[in-house]
Amino acid sequence: MFEVDNKGIRISGSEFYIDAKKKAPLSFVSHSHSDHVRRHEQMIATPATISMIKQRHRKVNAIPLDYHQKYQIDDFTIELVPSGHMLGSAQIFVERDGLKLIYTGDFKPGKNQTADPLEVRQADILIMESTFGAPQFVFPKEWEIIERLTKFIDKCFQSGIVPVVMGYAMGKSQEALKILGDLDYQISIHASIAQVVAIYEQNGIEFKNYQIYHGEDLRERILLIPPHLARSHSVAKIWQTKKLILTGWAVQPEAKYRYHADEALALSDHADFNQLIEFVHQVQPEKVFITHGYDSFVYYLRKEGFKAELLDETPQLSLF
Ligand SMILES: [Zn+2]
Repeated sequence: MFEVDNKGIRISGSEFYIDAKKKAPLSFVSHSHSDHVRRHEQMIATPATISMIKQRHRKVNAIPLDYHQKYQIDDFTIELVPSGHMLGSAQIFVERDGLKLIYTGDFKPGKNQTADPLEVRQADILIMESTFGAPQFVFPKEWEIIERLTKFIDKCFQSGIVPVVMGYAMGKSQEALKILGDLDYQISIHASIAQVVAIYEQNGIEFKNYQIYHGEDLRERILLIPPHLARSHSVAKIWQTKKLILTGWAVQPEAKYRYHADEALALSDHADFNQLIEFVHQVQPEKVFITHGYDSFVYYLRKEGFKAELLDETPQLSLF
């Protein structure tokens, strides 16, 4: 069904790649995070993903495919289904002669404010990410995270301190903006976040109570920035701030130091360890291949009775 060569995962007997790591003739792109985007001759992705990629790369030759729209390539059919990771993110479902394959890309089960919810399909072959595929990565419930987030913000306001919330400019910060704006907080956002917000708005997601940060007075306002700006001049010159990072890595006690933050909360756009295991039980695959994450996740899956392997990306290896 699939092989792995120096460009990545390819459907056997075709030139069609799945999240190819190098320039490919034709590749599915699961979502617009930069670790998944290459300059392919032609790509297949959801319209929202394509519009986000076009913002960064001028020349994009893309075939837009809506969720659940079937598309024939050679002797197999593909279909994109939501992965719950961010706006436009998709899993790909490939079917050939009754054999079914699912590639998840990055995925997150449960409720999202700004992404279509993860859809689970049964398949014979499952290729999945395992970013948080180790037992220490169990996230608190989202309502608990939001409660801690609002406590942090309210405490800052009471002390006359500016709360600086940090999330990646694409995906995480839009989720945070949606949550905070709907709670009627006033938010100033960095321009890089605003660019992506505009695309989300074009796709029907509504945000409230925000403006682009231009150095205005931040009294009773939240400043939302990407994490790489934690120690930038524009943040340093604000009189008194406290910083909070939103990331799944927050379950590691040292995470806040790594991000130069005062607090870290595990608002993640990935599945945690338990959700990864639960997902595999729902897909009921004959075989699981692990990519993007903790190698040891393979052993946890074997303990659950699954045939699991690390997707060894050595050239020309036929895997199934
Ligand atoms: Zn991602």
